[in-house]
Amino acid sequence: MNKETLKKNLREIPDFPKPGILFYDVTTLFKNPECLQGMIDELYEIYKDKGITKVVGIESRGFILGGALAARLGAGFVMARKPGKLPAETIEETYDKEYGTDTIQIHKDAIGKDDVVLLHDDLLATGGTMAATYRLVERCGAKQAFVNFVIELKGLDGRKAFPENVEVTTLLQL
Ligand code: IMP
Repeated sequence: MNKETLKKNLREIPDFPKPGILFYDVTTLFKNPECLQGMIDELYEIYKDKGITKVVGIESRGFILGGALAARLGAGFVMARKPGKLPAETIEETYDKEYGTDTIQIHKDAIGKDDVVLLHDDLLATGGTMAATYRLVERCGAKQAFVNFVIELKGLDGRKAFPENVEVTTLLQL
């Protein structure tokens, strides 16, 4: 996927959700057919030979490409969600945010020891959200786990949140 096309179609919203924050709005990438297809194609090329059996998408923007990619790879799809949303028994991890903490959950039986997992979300900032989700996948005993984001905010060094041996890919670095 051409990086300039992605960049051109990504919308920037100043002062959202609060003053001083520049929010990268990926909905404009999802609504553009060329970008949507291009991102799925690129992700498929990166992961098609890795033996992925489950894709984990993080609520909620990670569900879009995560679900499409899982179908394309012939893998299953697992939702990582905020507390109180998943109906069956869950496991959870809590992580630090700029102000306070947050918690992420998956179903306890969502991932097993034979799974090779791809974790996916729209954007890597500090890496806190994904690192917590990675720990959940580790706790399930997955054989291997890969990590992917659409956008990486390079200045925040979010890759440092993951163990060095974890392969992290991003489609657009800002
Ligand atoms: P982190 O945990 O600090 O890496 O923050 C990443 C999480 O916050 C992801 O779930 C993103 O969806 C969300 N996020 C933070 N900033 C943005 C943004 O500018 N655009 C879209 N999502 C964002």
